Order: sequence, then structure tokens, then C-alpha cells
Amino acid sequence: MSKKKRTRKAPQRKSNAKHRIPKTPKRIMLYHDMAVYENFERCALRIFTILRNSQHKLPGAERTLFLRIQGHRNDEGGYDHDAWEIIHHFIPEFIFPYLHTLNTPFGEVRNCNKQRNDIPDILTIGYPAGEEGDFWYDVDLLPIRAREVNGDTRKSRPSKDAIARYLGMESNPGCLICWNTPVERAHVVPSSLGGSMDVRNFALLCEYHHEQAPDIADAEAFWAWVDYAERRDAGSKWERESEYIKRMARQLGSRTEKVDRSEVDFIDAVRFELEHLYGWEDVDFERFSWDLQEEYHRVLDAATRKHFGVERKVATHSWAYDVALYRITRDPEGRKRRRNKVLLYDYIPE
Ligand SMILES: [Zn+2]
Repeated sequence: MSKKKRTRKAPQRKSNAKHRIPKTPKRIMLYHDMAVYENFERCALRIFTILRNSQHKLPGAERTLFLRIQGHRNDEGGYDHDAWEIIHHFIPEFIFPYLHTLNTPFGEVRNCNKQRNDIPDILTIGYPAGEEGDFWYDVDLLPIRAREVNGDTRKSRPSKDAIARYLGMESNPGCLICWNTPVERAHVVPSSLGGSMDVRNFALLCEYHHEQAPDIADAEAFWAWVDYAERRDAGSKWERESEYIKRMARQLGSRTEKVDRSEVDFIDAVRFELEHLYGWEDVDFERFSWDLQEEYHRVLDAATRKHFGVERKVATHSWAYDVALYRITRDPEGRKRRRNKVLLYDYIPE
């Protein structure tokens, strides 16, 4: 049947209405909030994924990217290193050619060239050869690694409002992971390890997530855990919403059911976290030995603390195992493999 003939037959056109492909919208808005718990790599990959998916869904539509930054401040009140890399290098050099318009905290810029649509399938993040280790936690010295360089020397904790303001959240903020209230002020690096009272050394977490958060010397690993827990427990955010809102969230690909992991055995929970947060594979689990156990206790003693009198905290112990594994294997390729594996997760299986 010719196209011309079909358009003349009104009844038939009506019955086919639901099969018709809607006209491609001319414009599409993309939005990403660089959360306080995202580092450069996770943020870059997520922006890239949003961009690539938008081209798959609406090929050639004019794209406007709205980028906002939560926290990520340096001592001078500007953006810290990770946010700076995103705003001043990754976005203008890599993402901008694929956009029509870019909207950042600095303002809106239009692409005076034609928006490119040949978006690559995969984004690979590289490090300068031989310098990969500089970007990671120093497992030799087990030092405190904080986000604040010259931290505030105040002796008392900042108020919840001050932390919320730093994070760009409204008053009466919810838990960073599950959005529940009330929230507690959770140290990123515990004060017993020398963590400061600087606003950048705090997260706002509900009691449940505060109790689970790791008590470790590495701020970046703490934030990576928050990021992981946010994805693991994503369903709990929707608990108090109506069925209608939940249905909309599901249509957008979110999980709206809470996953209850409270009955999981301690060692299984550590294993789950090593797999999903630290990227361990069978070859890594096979390295379990007395040597590893010894290193693990050394790491626990030097760079972790007990909190809430909780003797065995899954998040603290899995971090210590991961650091210990690298201390005994000294295998940068293995470390890179585990790291890349974790970066590519965007959904954690139950
Ligand atoms: Zn929570």
C-alpha cells in the first residue's frame, strides 16, 4: 500500500494511530547533579552515559546539558580538583561538541558549531602512564586522606544547616543515601583518626546509614561507599511516595522497592561489598591467606576506628581487606581491573 493511499483513508489512519512513531522532539534537556559523593571518574562516566543514551533515544535532537555541583569546594571557596576537572576540562573538551547548549553554575553557552552526533560507544578514562597510583589512596603509609587540604581548625562540629548549605540542600535535609529524615552529622574521616571539624569532612546520613558508613582514614573511599549505598538502597527513597509517583519512577528505570539486607550474614555482606564496591572477582577472593589476614589486621589497626561500639562494621572491614589485598599483591594491573569493573556498574544486583 502506498503512503499516499493510506493517508487518504481516515478510518484506517485512526486505527493505526498507536503504531505511529511520534515525531522526534527537536530539543532535549539533560540534567546532571555532580553529587558530593561523586568523584571525577564516576561523574564523567555518568554524564557520558546520559549523553550517549539521549542520542540513542532521540537521535539528532538538540541537546542542552544542565550541570550542577553539590559540595566539592576547595579552601578558597572555589571548586575542588575533581569538580574543576569536570567543568574546565572534561565538559568543554570532550562533551561540549556533542551539545547544542551547556548550562553550568558559570552560565549558559551555546555551541556555535553544529552539534555533533557521532558519540562514541565507550568512554575510557586514562591516567598519565606510571602515575596512576598518585590518584589513589597511599596503601604504603595508610595516611589520612581528606578532601579539605587546609581544613577549618574549629573544635566543634558545624551545624546541620551549615553542612546542608555546603551541599546546596534545603533546610530540613534528608539522608544523602535514602532521603529519610532526621539526619545525623556523620564524620567522613573520624575525629579519632584525626579527621577535622571542617564542613567538608561531614555527610548528612540517617541513623541507619550512619551506623553502616565506614570509619576509615580515606575520605574518597568513604564517599565511594556513600555512592555505592545510594545505588544499593535506591529503592528506599521512594518508600513514602504515592503509587502514582512510584510508577513514574519505575518508568524512568528506578527501583522503588527497598532491598532488605539486614539478615545477611556478616561475612557474606563483606563479600558482597568487596564484589560490588571494590570490584573483587574470583581471582581476588582466591588470594585469601594468612598473609592477607595479617595485612588486614595491620590496616584495621592503623587506619580504621570502631564507632558506636560496633565491633564489626561491614564497610570498614571490606575497605581494610581491599587495601590489604593490594599491600600483599603489589599488582597495579589487578587494582586497575577492580577499579574499572566497579566504575562500570550502574546497577547493583540483589
Ligand atoms: Zn539513610
